[in-house]
Amino acid sequence: MSGFFSTKIEFLKGIGPQRAALLQTELNLFTYGDLIQHYPFRYLDRTQFYQIGELHEDLPFVQIKGRIKHKELLGEGRKQRLSVILADASGEIELVWFKGVKWMNTSLKAGTEYIAFGKPTLFNSRLNMAHPEIEDAAEVKTGQSYLQPVYSTTEKLKNHRLDSKALGRIMAELLKLAVPQIAESLTPAIIDQYKMLSKREALAQIHFPTHAESLQAARFRLKFEELFYVQLKLLRQKNVRRAELAGQVFRNVTTLTEFYNHHLTFELTNAQKRVIKEIYKDLCAGKQMNRLLQGDVGSGKTIVAFISMLMAADNSAQSCLMAPTEILADQHYTGLKQFADLLGINIGKLTGSSKLRERRLIHEQLLSGEMKMIVGTHALLEDVVQFQNLGLCIIDEQHRFGVAQRSKLWQKNPRVIPHVLVMTATPIPRTLAMTLYGDLDVSVIDELPAGRKEIVTVHRYDAHRLRVFGFIREQIKAGRQTYMVYPLIEESETMDYKDLTDGYESVKRAFPEFNISIVHGRMKPQDKDFEMQRFVKNETQIMVATTVIEVGVNVPNASVMVIESAERFGLSQLHQLRGRVGRGAEQSYCILMTSYKLSKESKIRLETMVRTNNGFEIADIDLKLRGPGDLMGTQQSGVLDLLIADLAKDAKILQASRAVAQDLLEQDPTLSLPENENIRRHIQSLSKNTINWSRIS
Ligand code: ADP
Ligand code: MG
Repeated sequence: MSGFFSTKIEFLKGIGPQRAALLQTELNLFTYGDLIQHYPFRYLDRTQFYQIGELHEDLPFVQIKGRIKHKELLGEGRKQRLSVILADASGEIELVWFKGVKWMNTSLKAGTEYIAFGKPTLFNSRLNMAHPEIEDAAEVKTGQSYLQPVYSTTEKLKNHRLDSKALGRIMAELLKLAVPQIAESLTPAIIDQYKMLSKREALAQIHFPTHAESLQAARFRLKFEELFYVQLKLLRQKNVRRAELAGQVFRNVTTLTEFYNHHLTFELTNAQKRVIKEIYKDLCAGKQMNRLLQGDVGSGKTIVAFISMLMAADNSAQSCLMAPTEILADQHYTGLKQFADLLGINIGKLTGSSKLRERRLIHEQLLSGEMKMIVGTHALLEDVVQFQNLGLCIIDEQHRFGVAQRSKLWQKNPRVIPHVLVMTATPIPRTLAMTLYGDLDVSVIDELPAGRKEIVTVHRYDAHRLRVFGFIREQIKAGRQTYMVYPLIEESETMDYKDLTDGYESVKRAFPEFNISIVHGRMKPQDKDFEMQRFVKNETQIMVATTVIEVGVNVPNASVMVIESAERFGLSQLHQLRGRVGRGAEQSYCILMTSYKLSKESKIRLETMVRTNNGFEIADIDLKLRGPGDLMGTQQSGVLDLLIADLAKDAKILQASRAVAQDLLEQDPTLSLPENENIRRHIQSLSKNTINWSRIS
């Protein structure tokens, strides 16, 4: 925005230094630009009048029109109140004031027609309206639609007479000055393509809509613009990276072909094949790959990872696979080593509990290039871990690693930045992926290996535990294994620990004939590992655990997942946990245990889990329930500070804006054509405005 919009709000008529300071601390409004973007969060429809006779207490704020039939001051002193009876042809209602009583009493005139606006409530079994807004009907403009903006404000601001109405007056003042200063920020072509309002019209209409339709159009215009500039930024970053960062070329596929022809025991799904092609294409392109691989739990990401690592190995490059936990790293290692051994490839594992002697050996072999593949945890990030030629980094379960950690991996090859493949089993709704990972290429495995049976999910109350235990017994007798998961929430770790150990005791009592493992976060890695391995080998039949088993653990023989206090888990987490079963040929079950006391949201979560196994659908609902800010991994990403667009609701607009941004960059990658002048100028003003340190407090 131009200089005008960096003007401090204290200079606006009706604000001044004192109120400016309040608006700064309470609402983060510093400049005219901030203020004009303080959009109303809803509108009151002042075009509709209710008949007084049809009012009832379930109505929200409503507008009525009538004549004052009677008014009277009741009570004494501080308890005094003003009671007014307003009547229309259909009936009458009492309006009451407890404050400003005297003044209201003199200003309201019996017999005059008024428009009152307030919430009907039941008091002593009669409807009344306390402190309605009231205006002389003759003074209210009629014949014109009228949507009144409602601005968010705070108690403190209200105490300083900065309520929504006052903000509306300030906004009107600002708009008078600002409208001529507003520069168009989209090109005529884009505006034309979507028949959008101009920026000026949109800003005027968003604050003071003249019609419901124009408000709609204003919202569309502003949301589109907001999302468009986020997408444009991400796409440009992606282009820059593509253009600038060279990548090693991995064209040779000798060992990979051998693996395909002789060692792969199952047919890859079409989705896996497609994704592998996408990766191979990237690895041959001479540019650094930055790809996100999304695939629901059990969709077979590990084999895709291994095949990608083979591509590196076939071209004298090393690769690493980094997992968020020790258990997962172990499991990946065990899985990959089976394949690697068949092919005579040297693969190692490095975790926090690796012994010093092993470490030294691994460090040596990585540096000499003798070791081709390494699987591990954060231990891989340590500076002592150096490679001869690291060509590919695969990161499993993305959300647990920060950007800083990722970049540490990149630095492990000083000559050419390694290719990066980030794998996640937390399906991210498309809209969010586009925004969060808009600078990455995205591959999706949207198909499960053939022959998998849908997991049957049920919800049971704690009172039915005996029957649930009976079912578990049957399953175990038939040769299966069972998980029982307890919540773990950091704030109340002690309590959760107690839940877990109590649960363990009762499970032990209920199933004296079976062996039971317990795994939780307080255990030493070795002990955890020991217990995990016992379960993997079917030496124990029941695994009692906290959410440490959430990610990745693969025991195909486990067919029952019982989740205790399921109401305390988020949707994505429930889905992740459920994904631990259904990995073998047998029918699997997920049993969600809860008490009878459930919030509305918990009910939606449980119903969703029972209804569908589709991770993407679940992720969408999760996004709607929690909003994008709460989803895993999104907090650190500033791209989600949206003023008006809502990623959960505006998927269509997001897609449209991304397509427009893509077209634009294809035609004019540097944005230097004269017709794109508006966009160029807007980007400049955005970059000036984003470093507004005062707002980051
Ligand atoms: P995730 O995507 O959750 O990491 P995994 O890679 O652990 O899934 O795969 C789950 C199971 O499915 C593993 O036992 C794996 O061997 C098996 N699997 C993977 N791809 C296929 C396939 N195309 N056909 C049959 N089984 C497969
Ligand atoms: Mg996995």
